Amino acid sequence: MTSPTAAFDGMAQATCDVLQTAYQRQWITSRDGNVSWREACDLRWWITPSGARKHALQPQDMKRCQGLGPDADPAEPLGVSGEYALHRALHAQRLQRPTAVVHLHPTYTVAALYAGWDLSRICLEFPEIARYTCVGPSVPALAATSAELATACEQAFLACRCGQRPDIVGLDRHGVVAVASDPWRAFEHIERLEHICQMVLASGVRPSQARLPDTQPLRQEAA
Ligand SMILES: [Zn+2]
Repeated sequence: MTSPTAAFDGMAQATCDVLQTAYQRQWITSRDGNVSWREACDLRWWITPSGARKHALQPQDMKRCQGLGPDADPAEPLGVSGEYALHRALHAQRLQRPTAVVHLHPTYTVAALYAGWDLSRICLEFPEIARYTCVGPSVPALAATSAELATACEQAFLACRCGQRPDIVGLDRHGVVAVASDPWRAFEHIERLEHICQMVLASGVRPSQARLPDTQPLRQEAA
């Protein structure tokens, strides 16, 4: 497959590197996880393939997608990630901005969701995530690759309780979805949330025992 833009090589390689890093951290098993990206104001976008071994993905494996405009055919192109509808919905929310969408299964974040933690609230206690990452409302347990999951995720990214657009949301019993201008910046949101969840779980404090603030500072650009 030939590269359609000069930006393709960098973003495709970043996608491969993010998935390889996630696999090394055991945030995905070999065929889990998916990534998509798009340049600002471009209705064409790219997504990882379905069923491939993600830690061994190559830039030429990426699948090109058309159609984010109002008249576009929403049908899935052949061989794309099973979470195509979820990715498509999040790109459609951010047409004016360059966007990467990263979906992984980070261990401690999923464990915190399973234990009943409200991710959007526990993060307010930790300035290193609250300053740089807005954590939106979590999505309930829904079947992977389902239309219901795509719709719930789209809703979760519309607004946080603080009024900002979330950078990341948790998916109960499943994983997370993060959005940013490129795959590595989305990965940073996942990494910050995962680190906080690891500390919260290590503390032994239960959700019912936590003292949680209700307000969130406006986030800043990461240093
Ligand atoms: Zn998943």
